[in-house]
Parts: sequence; C-alpha cells; structure tokens
Amino acid sequence: MLLSLPTTVSALRECLAQGAVPVGGATLVWATWQREGFPEQAVSLREVPEATVLGREELGAAVLLHQVDDRVPEVLRRAAGSVGTGAVRRAATVGGNLVGSTLRCLLPAALVLDARARVLGGEGTYETDLAELVAKRHLLLSLRWHAPLTSGYRKLPGDAGGPPPFVVATAVHADAEGGHLLRVAVRDGYEVIAESASHDAGAGAPEVLDALRRTPLGALPPTAWEAVRAQVTETLTDPALG
Ligand SMILES: Cc1cc2nc3c(=O)[nH]c(=O)nc-3n(C[C@H](O)[C@H](O)[C@H](O)COP(=O)(O)OP(=O)(O)OC[C@H]3O[C@@H](n4cnc5c(N)ncnc54)[C@H](O)[C@@H]3O)c2cc1C
Repeated sequence: MLLSLPTTVSALRECLAQGAVPVGGATLVWATWQREGFPEQAVSLREVPEATVLGREELGAAVLLHQVDDRVPEVLRRAAGSVGTGAVRRAATVGGNLVGSTLRCLLPAALVLDARARVLGGEGTYETDLAELVAKRHLLLSLRWHAPLTSGYRKLPGDAGGPPPFVVATAVHADAEGGHLLRVAVRDGYEVIAESASHDAGAGAPEVLDALRRTPLGALPPTAWEAVRAQVTETLTDPALG
C-alpha cells in the first residue's frame, strides 16, 4: 500500500482522483484491511493545513482526538475525550469519527454548535451541513461554528458489548433578538436527535425543559430524559450566561 501525504488541497484532490482511500488513524479500517486486503493507495490529510486547524471556531478533520483541547468549546473537547481508550484517542481523527464510525460521539457535539462542514468534492472545496456530510460520507477537511456562550456534554456509562451509551450535548448561543437559543442533541442507541428551544436570557431551566418535553426528546426513556434534564440544568445555570 502506498500512503500519500499531500501538503496542499490540490495535491490531495489529485491523490483522490487516482483512487487513493482517505485514512485517518486507521483505528477502524486496519482490521478490515488485514482481513480483506490493503488498498493500493491511501491518503492521509495530516500534512494538509486546512485539515489540521484547531481553534475557538474551527477543528480540522486530521486532528487527533487526544489533541482536541480547551481551544474548542467544552462540548467538543469532552466529546473527543470520551471516545474509546487513550490508545484509540491518540490515533483516531475527527474525520474518522464523524464520517467513518457508526458511533460518532462527536456528532451530537458538532450538531449543538450548528457546525458547518468544509468538504472536498470533485469540483473543489465547499461548505455543507452535518446531515449531508454524514449521509453522503464526503471527504471532511474541517468543521466551523460560531463560539457558544456555554456548552456541555455527558455520556452515560455503557456495558462492554452492549448498546452504545446514551450521550447528550448542549450549547447556548445568543440570538439576534437578545435572547438565547439552547440546542440539545442526544445519541440514543445509534439514533441522533437534535432539538432547540429559544428563550429569554435568564429564563429558568424548568421553563426550557417544559418546551423540550414537547419535542421528540420528551419520548426518551426515563434514564435518558434524566440525563437531558441534568445536562440542560447545568448548562443553563452556567454563570457565563449572566
Ligand atoms: C476500542 C475502540 C473503542 C471505541 N469507542 C468509541 C466511542 O466510545 N465513541 C465513538 O464515537 N467511537 C468509538 N470508536 C470508534 C472510533 O470513533 C473510530 O475508531 C475512530 O474515530 C476512527 O478514526 P480514524 O481516524 O482511526 O479512522 P480510520 O480508521 O482511519 O478511517 C475510518 C473511515 O473513515 C474514513 N475517513 C477518515 N478520515 C476521513 C475524512 N477526513 N473524511 C471522510 N472520511 C474519512 C476512512 O476512509 C474510513 O472509511 C472506538 C473504536 C475502538 C477501536
């Protein structure tokens, strides 16, 4: 297998045009390749500057999960820190998790940030939403979002070999009318549900939870709803919201 390490997006595009398979840390594909045979060509994004950005409002697809630090909002940092084991996080990439894995612990976090995906298609780079990124499995270069006022994430304990543990992500952004918009995204099994509630700045958690109860989140099983309730309450009582 030839592994290419292009340093520009146009060189990356050339590799893809020649049939190279994108690879991150190979934490998912290695076992399949050993079983079914290695591709002739693979391409890593780790030397492409557009895929290695890491900042308050951007995260590159080639960034390793263990590198996701407090430059990004808490919701993303905690999501990355909750994936698998330390060994997995030292090798796995943001792109491999969001596009390549079925668990996608980063997806609820990216959804509450209302992140946009910068992807590379046949015609060049363009921006799309997360639903299209995941459905069409585009080649992800980076995520971009507007920094939230506050955010949070929690993952319930799971049993090894059991269903995926329940995940809830929250973020509050200021809206144009001087109020706040709370976004909540959960992963329940393999299903991801994202909802939001607009409210006046300083509105109490019970009022916002009542509104969320009337969305499909209200149909979650009691343990999952309790995790949503606790996470929403923690987020809305963050002193950062004033
Ligand atoms: C022990 C273990 C525990 C795990 N626990 C969790 C967990 O708790 N939560 C969770 O979410 N996941 C978990 N995972 C899955 C983990 O998220 C993935 O293994 C990892 O994120 C894949 O990243 P990678 O860079 O190694 O991808 P790779 O294995 O390199 O690639 C996987 C797929 O993604 C594609 N890909 C890679 N980069 C891109 C890109 N930039 N754009 C588009 N496609 C791309 C590849 O072509 C390939 O099809 C676990 C995995 C293991 C092995």
